[in-house]
Amino acid sequence: MAKILRCSDLGMNCPKEIRAATEEELLKLAAEHAEKDHGIPVASIPPEIQAMVKAAIREE
Ligand SMILES: [Zn+2]
Repeated sequence: MAKILRCSDLGMNCPKEIRAATEEELLKLAAEHAEKDHGIPVASIPPEIQAMVKAAIREE
């Protein structure tokens, strides 16, 4: 079973779909994607947005 996060679910105009086996890994990949492709440093993301990201994670 995989966990999936779609960037578009977070209101981004982005087709990226991030998949990982665990939530920890998924959040790590999402952080890398946000920083690399959206120029959003993870340290600047407020807790309420982090909670939104976690809530947007889907199980496959
Ligand atoms: Zn994206």
